[in-house]
Amino acid sequence: MATQRTLSLIKPDATRRNLTGKINAKFEDAGLRIVAQKRLHLTKAQAGEFYKVHAERPFYDELTTFMASGPIVAQVLEGEDAIAKNREVMGATNPADAEAGTIRAEFAESVGENSVHGSDAPETAKEEIAYFFAGLELVG
Ligand code: ADP
Repeated sequence: MATQRTLSLIKPDATRRNLTGKINAKFEDAGLRIVAQKRLHLTKAQAGEFYKVHAERPFYDELTTFMASGPIVAQVLEGEDAIAKNREVMGATNPADAEAGTIRAEFAESVGENSVHGSDAPETAKEEIAYFFAGLELVG
């Protein structure tokens, strides 16, 4: 397995409940290193651009309104097989289906307000990291 980088977002439902530290501890305990991190508040248009792949889905408006409803924490996680490992630590999209001990099982409020985002493949990880970070901000 190669060292990879993946984009993670801590979503507004989690920043609102002051869960950034608890979520970051899950990443670090799993061996993922936070090599870049910043807190920001997206506009609905910025959230819409990030999630444009879902533009035709019925939940797109709800999702982009939610993602612009409060601060998020954008971060780059690095480690062996980081993309899959992060998805494992996150748990299933719907917290009702997420395995015990995962972030979504412990913290998510619903299928929409599910506390974290993680890239799903190397190409999307590259694009999503570039959406939030300049190369000089990645400090391995
Ligand atoms: P994941 O975030 O696990 O990769 P998806 O890419 O399928 O999941 O969906 C992106 C995001 O859209 C989810 O994390 C969630 O916030 C939202 N979402 C997905 N399905 C629904 C749904 N049925 N209702 C409301 N929001 C949804």
